[in-house]
Formats: sequence, C-alpha cells, structure tokens
Amino acid sequence: MPDRIVFDLDGTLIDRDAALLQGAEELLARLGFEAPANLGARVSEAATVAALARDIVPGRSGELTDCMLAAIKPRADVIAMLRGLRAANRLVLLTNGRAELQRRKLRAAGLHGLFDEVLISGELGFGKPDPRCFELAFAGGDAQHALVVGDDLERDILPAVQAGARTCWISRGRALPDGAPQPTMTCEFPELPRILTCQYAT
Ligand SMILES: [Mg+2]
Repeated sequence: MPDRIVFDLDGTLIDRDAALLQGAEELLARLGFEAPANLGARVSEAATVAALARDIVPGRSGELTDCMLAAIKPRADVIAMLRGLRAANRLVLLTNGRAELQRRKLRAAGLHGLFDEVLISGELGFGKPDPRCFELAFAGGDAQHALVVGDDLERDILPAVQAGARTCWISRGRALPDGAPQPTMTCEFPELPRILTCQYAT
C-alpha cells in the first residue's frame, strides 16, 4: 500500500477538455459566432487556454478562462475519494500550469484544501516530466511507497516509473503505445474514484 499518492490535475481529477469545450461553446454562442465543426479536436490539441483563445476567439483568453472555470463542477465521488484516501495516505497534487489558473481550477472543482501538498510548475520554475518535480513530490518518503496517478504517459507515468514509483494511468480509451512504460494499473476517467478507494482507502 502506498503511503503517498501523487495526483495530476488536468485529465485526471478534472475533465479539463470537457470543461474547455463547454466553455468555448458558451463563449462562441454569447459572441454570436458559430462553433467550428472540429472544435472538440482543436480543444484537445490546444496546450493551453490561451492557445485555444488565439485559435478561435483572439484577444478573449480571459473570457474563455472564465467560461471554462464555470463549466468545471465538483464531482462528489472525486471529493469523497480524496477524503477517504487522505485518512491513510499523504496526498500530493503535482500539476503543470500557471499557479493562479491551477488554483482557480482546484477551487472550481471543490478540491481546494484536500491535499497535504500542492506543487505547481508555474511556482516551481520547472514542470513534469522534469525529475525534480517527482523528487519534491516524494520528498520525506520513498518513491517505492508512492503511487502516481495521471493521464499523460510522458509527463506523469514515465518519470514516475523511472523513479521507482507505482503508477495508475488514466487511459481515456487510448491503447498503450508500443515502447511506452507499463503502468502498474490502468483505468478510465470515471472509474478512478471507485478503483482507488477500493485499493487504497482504509
Ligand atoms: Mg493531465
């Protein structure tokens, strides 16, 4: 059993793409623009909200951010999972992004205050997959007694495997590519609370 569980945020605890798609649709409708047919693909490809804003609503990055945040709703099963896990494990959030935006997402999702430690690349000055992120996340403990949960093979799973931690990959229907690191376990986004609670809550 791990004594420490390190969570990614976007795509792991929050369905960022769904919220960004909904926010983009609402903003486009409010502005009287028709949503492009391939909006979902453009949302998935956009590395940041600002990049999507440049693509579909230039100059309106702040409004798009607000619309995305409004579309993030707390999930009772995720909140219950974190509370249950925290009784027996140290919980660390390790996320890439601007600190202010990531903290606003945490509050929107009702996840603020549910972690023992919050590590954000925008505050650290480096981000996943930099091994220093994981050294910080595992500090004071042993990587072998940690579980890293994330949806990104290169940024979450590979560096965690290399550090000797166990891993849970949120596959989102994707097959494991040839040559990719083998996660300890794999699950779909909606299943995560049930599976982790069964395995790691007291
Ligand atoms: Mg992610």
